[in-house]
Order: sequence, then structure tokens, then C-alpha cells
Amino acid sequence: MAEREDPTVFIAHREGACAECGKKLEGGEWITLSGAEGEVAEALCLGCSDLDHLVFLPRGNAALTRRAGKHSTLRAVVVAWNRRRKRYERQGTLVGEDALRRAEEECLADADLRARRAERRRQRDQLADAGYVADFTREILRAYPQVPPERAAKIALHACQRHSGRVGRSAAGKGLDPKTIRLAVRAHLRHTATNYDELLMAGVPRREARAEIADALDAAERRWR
Ligand SMILES: [Zn+2]
Repeated sequence: MAEREDPTVFIAHREGACAECGKKLEGGEWITLSGAEGEVAEALCLGCSDLDHLVFLPRGNAALTRRAGKHSTLRAVVVAWNRRRKRYERQGTLVGEDALRRAEEECLADADLRARRAERRRQRDQLADAGYVADFTREILRAYPQVPPERAAKIALHACQRHSGRVGRSAAGKGLDPKTIRLAVRAHLRHTATNYDELLMAGVPRREARAEIADALDAAERRWR
């Protein structure tokens, strides 16, 4: 049997809409395509694809890419359409944040890595400064008193980061409704308290994987209430 390929994220070159949340997908949006063989593929935004907890590692550092991929429970290849050559080309990979950190430790001699890490820290600080990460954290703790505060802060930060801008940014604009908080907490638990990422990596279709972990996810959520 051939080895299974990693999930693929496409940088869209046409406009469309996410088949799940309906969000408008501009050209340049990161999407996945799903649908059984023979069906017309549906486009999903990165958030609805459940890949938005991963961080992007641009191509160009083979050692880092290999190490981060090896440590990552779930990873995806990012490709973009090259108009001139009429083919998809690999832009980099999406890997787990902890996996990337571990891989970086292993490669730390390289000064580029330090620069990139500083850049990520700077982006985080900018978000934290914006104040709504703190608001978001407070609302999580209000709805889920059993969440350890540092976990709540981590969930809030993630929800406000670019790849899940869908949750964080809209929350900043509209005020934080309970549904937004719940979505962010459940997204976090799905990846940390269940074997969801392993299932996706094993090629289990997203809907099936979600059904399989539904009870574990509800239980984990109840423990935090
Ligand atoms: Zn979506």
C-alpha cells in the first residue's frame, strides 16, 4: 500500500465561500478541499478545516521542515497555483507549534531561526497589546471556571491570532458572545484532549473523526464548566 500523503492546504486562486461557515474566500485565502472521490470538492476555510492551530513553516529549510514534521502529530502541506507553470507548488508546511519549537531547538545554531522566533513573539505581543486577548481570557474563565488560567490565556491568544481571525477579530468587533467563547474552547480541546489530530493524520474524513471524538470532547468540556 502506498504511503498516505499529508493533508493539503491550497492557497486559493479563485474566490468562493467556505462550505461550512459560509465565510467569503478571497483569492489568497488558505483552504482545504474535501468531498468523497467522484464528488465535487467543497472548499473549507482553514478554521473549519481544523488546521488553524498549526503554524506555517515556509519552505527553504529542509532540516527544520523534516524535524518539525517528524515531531508533529498533524501536519499539512501548503501549495499555491503557479499560473505560468500551470501546476501547484509547495510553499511550506503547517506543523504543530510545540513540534516546531522542538525542531528549532535541534537546529538552533542557525541565526535565521532566532530572527523568525523573535518575529513570532513580536506578532504575539502586538495582539496581547490590543487588549482583546485579555478580554477573551476573562470571558473564558467566566464561562469555564475550571480552566487553568494559563490555558485560558493560550486559548484566547490563539483565537485572536490571524489564522483564526474568524473568531478573535469578529469578537473584538461585536463583543464576546458565549458561542464565540465556546467555539474557541472546544477547538482547543478537540486538539488537546482527544485523538482528533491523530485521526485526521491517519486519513479519517473530518466528519467521521468529529463523530468519533464527540463524546470525549463533550466530557472534556464538562470538566471545565
Ligand atoms: Zn469556514
